[in-house]
Amino acid sequence: MTLLAVSKTQPAERLRELYQLGQRDFGENYLQEALAKQAALADLRICWHFIGPIQSNKTKSISEHFDWVHSVDRIKVARRLSEQRPETLPALNVCLQVDISGEASKSGVPPEALPELAEAVAELPRLRLRGLMCIPAPSDDFAEQRRAFAEMRHGFEALRARGHALDTLSMGMSGDLEAAIAEGATLVRIGTALFGPRNPAPTSNP
Ligand SMILES: *Cc1c(COP(=O)(O)O)cnc(C)c1O
Repeated sequence: MTLLAVSKTQPAERLRELYQLGQRDFGENYLQEALAKQAALADLRICWHFIGPIQSNKTKSISEHFDWVHSVDRIKVARRLSEQRPETLPALNVCLQVDISGEASKSGVPPEALPELAEAVAELPRLRLRGLMCIPAPSDDFAEQRRAFAEMRHGFEALRARGHALDTLSMGMSGDLEAAIAEGATLVRIGTALFGPRNPAPTSNP
């Protein structure tokens, strides 16, 4: 089980403190914010995960500065990440983000389109398809939380049965990590429960 520390809006010094306690994996949502922290923490051996929505004009920088991307949900973005991944770096680890709650407004590939996207991504030479990620609609009901994560696990197992060597089920946040673990999460993405409430985004400061 990997604990991914989700450090969006947290200053670089908070990440450094956690690193000194042994934390190695950090997740960021906003590219510019992440690049500033990476520069401030360049002396540490952090494994950086990009977990936010991906605009296609940001793929070059993402492919150059991260070890993992959890939020790939369309082939166009995957192709760009693969083409732009520098040859000096190992293949970029990717998870496909699945729209498990079926809200069309949310990001993520619809579950019925997942097998086709996985086939296409698995062909890309500079990406390494590792697994699936989801952000289910928030619910306080444990059984409902589990239902969404169970659906993810079934999708994950179905892809493995088709021959994809997946090892990462990225699911569970501060409010639903117990349900995610009960359904087989291999990586939980935790922000608030680790760092406390988030600071307002820098841009929203007066
Ligand atoms: C912010 C965020 C998290 C962490 O959420 P918390 O509720 O603070 O634990 C996890 N995953 C993604 C994709 C996020 O954007």
